[in-house]
Amino acid sequence: MHEPLSDQAGPPDVYVRGAPPPPPTRRLEGQRHVPVAVIGAGFTGLSTALHLAEAGIDVAVLEAKEIGWGASGRAFGQVVPYLKPGHEAIMRHYGPERGQRIVDAVAAGPDLVSELIGRHGIECWAMRSGLIFAAHSQGGRRDLEHRTRYWQQRNAPVEMLEGARCAATIGSSLYPVASLDRRGGNINPFAYARGLAHAAAGAGATLYERTPARGLARRDGRWTIDAGDACLTADNVVIATNAYTGDLWPGLRESVIPMRGHGFVTEPLSDNVRHTILPERQSLTDTRLLYSGVRMLPDGRLHGSAHGPSFGAEPRADWHRVDARIRRLFPQLGTVKWQQAWSGWVAMTTDHFPRLHELAPGLYAGLGYNGRGIAAATMMGRDLATLVRGARDDATVFPLTPLRPLRWRRMAPTLIRGLVQVYRVRDMVDEYRLRRAA
Ligand SMILES: Cc1cc2nc3c(=O)[nH]c(=O)nc-3n(C[C@H](O)[C@H](O)[C@H](O)COP(=O)(O)OP(=O)(O)OC[C@H]3O[C@@H](n4cnc5c(N)ncnc54)[C@H](O)[C@@H]3O)c2cc1C
Repeated sequence: MHEPLSDQAGPPDVYVRGAPPPPPTRRLEGQRHVPVAVIGAGFTGLSTALHLAEAGIDVAVLEAKEIGWGASGRAFGQVVPYLKPGHEAIMRHYGPERGQRIVDAVAAGPDLVSELIGRHGIECWAMRSGLIFAAHSQGGRRDLEHRTRYWQQRNAPVEMLEGARCAATIGSSLYPVASLDRRGGNINPFAYARGLAHAAAGAGATLYERTPARGLARRDGRWTIDAGDACLTADNVVIATNAYTGDLWPGLRESVIPMRGHGFVTEPLSDNVRHTILPERQSLTDTRLLYSGVRMLPDGRLHGSAHGPSFGAEPRADWHRVDARIRRLFPQLGTVKWQQAWSGWVAMTTDHFPRLHELAPGLYAGLGYNGRGIAAATMMGRDLATLVRGARDDATVFPLTPLRPLRWRRMAPTLIRGLVQVYRVRDMVDEYRLRRAA
């Protein structure tokens, strides 16, 4: 199986150009001891480091490549107030008390991200304009109405859009109905990662880039991290490597299934066309089973997310499919000039819930956001910092759960490829029906 960390390409230029300069980093030399070492500098690791550093704890972050190099620097950029499973599934899975805590905390996830962005002055295109979910089928419509009713009963700013209002808000008459959730927003995720890194460094954390942790062992009551020529010892270690997890700890890599997600961006659109698409600058997804995200970037580029090859070494982008879908959605675009494509790895879990583990005394991990990790990984970092500081999991959002490696993980690519084909056909049939009914 291709290892995500073996990818060569970094985060997309469009995000890198729109990000603050890299944060101050150091070179790890010889041997150093810290109370806490964090492995991986995405949202999980950086949020852990920031929360610990702000509490006055000396923390060092080791990143194999560069800050935000993993999924965090490649995400579609939607900051969402939910997990992949809906509120009812969360309550069923975790029970009423923990379930409600998770539903509430996840709903406040965009507030946490906004608060960090505001407090640390992170320049990352942050826009709290809301998220649009369009119904691509009758079943999708029922789901959206059900979800909207639930949140409206809880006084959340969520509403249904129909007919002309729906078309005007999207800039397309493809969807007859959609839900607008004003709690969410959009960011440049790579810039947010760099901003978190600046904030963590400013609070006293030390960041080491191009420093892969090659081994982890418990010796003389402390953790020893082998970093090639150098070595870091720590009282506590947080593994924050998500889909990019290697063989640092037995079974951790095998507890999630890494799957590629793809992003595409056009050249800047002409002034008159760009104002017709998502004029209030929400991002749009629909109720299809496969990725369907579209948003406008601040410089007038159209950004899409799509399903492409889910596994393997940096496959070629499938422009064809995304191009056809976007032109059906926004016929006013005419010919679309796509400029860049990229991909990154999402960590899937079998039940679609994230995982928080205490792997051994003083050794923690948080991972498995199933493609909903901007707010959730930021929250997870806060949870990990809480545990490291000595609290139990009654003080965290997510509960500690035992590590469960998936025995059939080697078969996952074959199974998932088959499932994606089934989803693709179902989505195509639904979309055909939708267009016939329009
Ligand atoms: C294409 C795509 C689109 C997405 N869109 C969205 C979205 O719109 N909204 C949303 O909420 N979520 C989205 N996600 C999910 C979100 O990006 C992730 O859940 C989140 O970034 C996970 O953060 P993380 O810090 O846990 O992992 P990562 O950001 O992947 O960070 C892990 C880091 O660990 C490093 N690492 C690995 N092994 C080692 C080692 N041995 N030593 C040192 N460092 C190591 C890696 O280099 C990497 O930088 C998307 C993901 C992808 C791939």
